[in-house]
Amino acid sequence: MAICLGIESTAHTFGVGIVEDGKVIVNIIDSYKTKKGGMIPFKVADHHVDMCDKVIKKALNKAKIKLKDIDIIAYSQGPGIGHCLRIGAQAARTLSLKLKKPIVPVNHCIAHLEIGSLEKAKDPVLLYASGANTQIIAYEAGKYRIFGETLDMGVGNFLDSFARDLKIGFPGGPVIEKLAKKGKKYIEVPYSVKGMDVSFSGLYTNLKHKINKYKKEDLCYSTQETIFAMLIEVSERAMAHLGKKELLLGGGVACNSRLQEMCRIMCKERKAKCFIPKKEFLIDNGAMIAHLGLKKYKANPKKNTISIEKSVIKPYERTDDVIVNWR
Ligand code: AMP
Ligand code: MG
Repeated sequence: MAICLGIESTAHTFGVGIVEDGKVIVNIIDSYKTKKGGMIPFKVADHHVDMCDKVIKKALNKAKIKLKDIDIIAYSQGPGIGHCLRIGAQAARTLSLKLKKPIVPVNHCIAHLEIGSLEKAKDPVLLYASGANTQIIAYEAGKYRIFGETLDMGVGNFLDSFARDLKIGFPGGPVIEKLAKKGKKYIEVPYSVKGMDVSFSGLYTNLKHKINKYKKEDLCYSTQETIFAMLIEVSERAMAHLGKKELLLGGGVACNSRLQEMCRIMCKERKAKCFIPKKEFLIDNGAMIAHLGLKKYKANPKKNTISIEKSVIKPYERTDDVIVNWR
């Protein structure tokens, strides 16, 4: 039996998860929040420094585990905000030195996909819809490959920017979802799918001109229907071309009930399975880092662990940069 402690710190969330042989024992997060503006990197990093000890202690207490019981330490290596990643990596190094335990680096986007195995997804196409990331990812020929992605902003960042213009607060996604439920009239807005990729900047500009001319509820409804249809179109095309029969959701935007409903309908129509993890595993969390860290360690302890000197961060790491040797 092996116990892995995973640390997540790519953006607003500092998370610690503890996993024992494929079972999540505990999953604690603390996220940076602000009433005004967005994420200022050094302020988020300060939050992570403040919370680091507390979140680790809370996780250990809740799991009724002592530090010395941890066998492996995993951390989110990238992609993400450098300031934030650095805090998680530093915590991993400190724990590794103190406990004399190995470190396993983990790619954040792949962790979102791998946590799907808790739901019994075997070989899914992942629709990863978060703040900064919007990607369609699946395994093919030795790597997790990106079959489609946003050409400009992430879908969550788009929703947050639109919400800021509507003056309805941050994060915008959940408020837009609430308003959209009250919307009745579909207003034509740009639908932008280019091959397997999606784009939101044209729609964003178009909406700026519509804000004072239409009801907020109708704009939110029309926006959601349009952007989710774009995401479903590319996800479905990836499933069709790859011959895969499973769709998995990941990322904060995947908490949206209308997006979930549209995914279920698409999967039902093509006789595929739709996996929607619990909210705690959809959003950024430490359990998914621990889960993949443990998987990597078990598959190849030598190749998948790194020395303290090499435990750097990779803010720009791409999903398809990673050689997959654990499947
Ligand atoms: P992440 O980057 O994965 O942590 O997700 C954060 C993003 O998810 C933010 O842009 C939020 O606005 C968005 N989000 C959270 N909940 C919802 C929701 N119910 N509907 C749409 N977007 C959401
Ligand atoms: Mg994420």
